[in-house]
Order: sequence, then C-alpha cells, then structure tokens
Amino acid sequence: MKADSDKTNLIGLPHMALQEFLAGLGEKSYRAVQIMKWIYHHGVIDTEEMSNISKSLRQTLAQCAEVRLTEPVSDQPSSDGTRKWLLRLECGNCIETVFIPETDRGTLCISSQVGCALNCTFCSTATQGFNRNLTVHEIIGQVLFAARTLGISPNRSKRKITNIVLMGMGEPLVNYDNVVAAIDLMLDDNAFGLSKRRVTISTAGLVPAIHKLVDSVDVSLAVSIHASNDQVRDRLVPLNKKYPIAELLPACKQYIADKPHRKITWEYVMLRGVNDLDEHARELAQLLKGIPSKINLIPFNSFPGTEYECSLPDRIGKFRNILINQGFPTIVRKTRGDDIDAACGQLVGSFTDRTRRQGRAVEIQRANGNTSNVIQTSAVKSTERDKRESEPHYEKFKTT
Ligand code: SF4
Repeated sequence: MKADSDKTNLIGLPHMALQEFLAGLGEKSYRAVQIMKWIYHHGVIDTEEMSNISKSLRQTLAQCAEVRLTEPVSDQPSSDGTRKWLLRLECGNCIETVFIPETDRGTLCISSQVGCALNCTFCSTATQGFNRNLTVHEIIGQVLFAARTLGISPNRSKRKITNIVLMGMGEPLVNYDNVVAAIDLMLDDNAFGLSKRRVTISTAGLVPAIHKLVDSVDVSLAVSIHASNDQVRDRLVPLNKKYPIAELLPACKQYIADKPHRKITWEYVMLRGVNDLDEHARELAQLLKGIPSKINLIPFNSFPGTEYECSLPDRIGKFRNILINQGFPTIVRKTRGDDIDAACGQLVGSFTDRTRRQGRAVEIQRANGNTSNVIQTSAVKSTERDKRESEPHYEKFKTT
C-alpha cells in the first residue's frame, strides 16, 4: 500500500480529471459523478462508505486514493454568529476561512494564497508577507471543511453555505488557474452546485487576469478600488502603479459587457482623512459613471502598527449619501466578527513568510511597543531564493 501522502487526493479533482483518474483504474465515467456526490453532497470522506460503488472499486480506491481534508487548528465563534477557522495545510502553514451567517444567506469567505504579496498598505494580511499559492484541493477543501462542520446536506435548500467570496488571504487572480478550477467545482452540480451569481472573485485589479477571466469563468466580480484617483490608489494599492485606474476600468467594463444585470461591486475601505472626503466621493462617482455598479464602503478594521484610522461614522454617512445621490447603490458594510479578528482585511493565518515583510511589521510594532497581535512564525533568513520569492507575484502573471 502507498503511504497516505502518495495517494491521490480526490478533493479538488475537476470532473474531467476524476473521470480520467477512474478510467486509469478501468472504471466507467459515471463513477466520477457518484464519487463527487458522495464527497460534496454527503460529505463522505471514507471511500468505504460510498455504498453505491462496487466493493472492488472501493478496495482499489482505498489503495490509491483518499479524501484528505485540511486540519482545523482553531475554531473561533464570534458573538455575532461569525465563525473563523485556522486550517493547517499539509506543508504546516495555516490559512484562515470565515463563515458569516445572515438571515437570508450564509457566506463563506475563503483564502486563495498563503499570505499575499500585493502589500496593500491598509491590509493586515499584507503585513504577514507571502508564502505560496493554494492548490485547487486547498481552496475547495476550505468549502468542504466548512460545509461538513456546519452540517452538509444533499438538499440544496438546507445548505448553510449559500455564497462564496474569494476575499480571504491572497489575491485570487494571481493564483489564476487553481482559482478557476476551484470555482468550476463550486458551480458544478455534482459538487457544490452554487449559482454563478453567488460566487464572487475579489481582486485588487490584476488587469490582464480580468481580461482573461472573460472567457473562462462567469461569476461575480468585486474590485478593491479604495480610491478615486491614482495618486491615492498608488499609496493604498501598490498594484495600481502597474495597472492604473485608466486600465482597470475598461477591463471591468469588458468583464460585464454582454452580461445583462451584472454589476461590478466596488470595495472601498474608509480611511480617515485619506480617501473619505466629499471630493473623493464625487470623484469616484464621476469615475464609475456608466459602469453598472454597486459600492461597498468598508469601515477600516485597525491592526497593530497601521498608519491608518477608520473614518468617523458621520463622515462615512456623508460619503455614502453623495454616492447614492449620484445614482450608485451604496451600502456601508457591517463589520462582522471583529471580536475574533475575522473582519475584512484582518485575516492573517500563520505561516513562513518568504518576503521578509512580516519581520518588518514586527519591527514597526516593536518600535510602537506592541507585539500582542503578531503571530510569530519562523521568518526565514534572506537568501537569493527568498529575494526571488519576494518579487511581487503579479509580475509573473502572463496572459495566454
Ligand atoms: S487587500 Fe487583498 S490583495 Fe491587498 S494585500 Fe490584502 S489580501 Fe492582498
């Protein structure tokens, strides 16, 4: 028998890949559907329990395949019902996944990378640095883990997870191929079977990848705009220096062209005195004119060492009113799970940083006399490899 780690992990195998795997075992293609339904509809992870599969196939699967889940390290419930899990990957690094229940939906916020290399200056995840992209099974494994933990059901109307947002740790479009493959499983009726309107990719604005998305996946798109002009956006979202607003907006328009009723969701973090003035709201309205849009204003969630403060409630209200008066549906995002650091931009996980950014964040916090919220991980020494790894990974994104 192979060692467990050598076995094929059935989680994350797209339908076709599972069919091919089973064909290699001499099995018919319909077995793939049976196995997918056991895993994603019933949450069965022991192939022995897949009772409509022949005994001989179950015995073969036990030898060469398994359903390997990520391991929970902690499960933190918030007073508002939000739940945050720290999940350990096989490599030992940990990522965070958050479930946010509301009256009419249950949203799972999942990670796409271990850390993030984009270094948005208002983001707690960014201070932790970057390690690597998540694999397809690590991305979809978060959904399966949460679904099983919350109570999985083959009956769609009884499922707790109705929406998935890729807004956890990482920039999803940097991890393009794995994210698209994972989304295929989210939408596949034999897997999670979610409506495409209920799956949202959130991006900081990786323009070539947005263009590429047009032909590969049709889900909702949220764009972290956070500023009404390049000068402010360059400061908040360094990716903007490479893909400025004048390139970002046409890519977003193209993404929703020919998709009736589709809107871009613009995420806008409210930072006191930085991007929250009336003139910024008017400038934003001008910028987005003609683009089917909805705008989420996100009260900034502070973290140790940050240079920013959240805008005052009154200021946020005035900002929102200007946008509404200009015809943009605008909401102030309710902060959820802030007592467990599960709110927007607060996911940090626990992992080995390859960028040395975590070390710098710790130094800043020490200088400010605060290290309480820093997850101490083994920041690796600077080597040539580390320097290569610390290059922003969007530099490596190539359109094909
Ligand atoms: S806001 Fe998103 S893209 Fe920017 S550093 Fe944080 S996780 Fe990365």
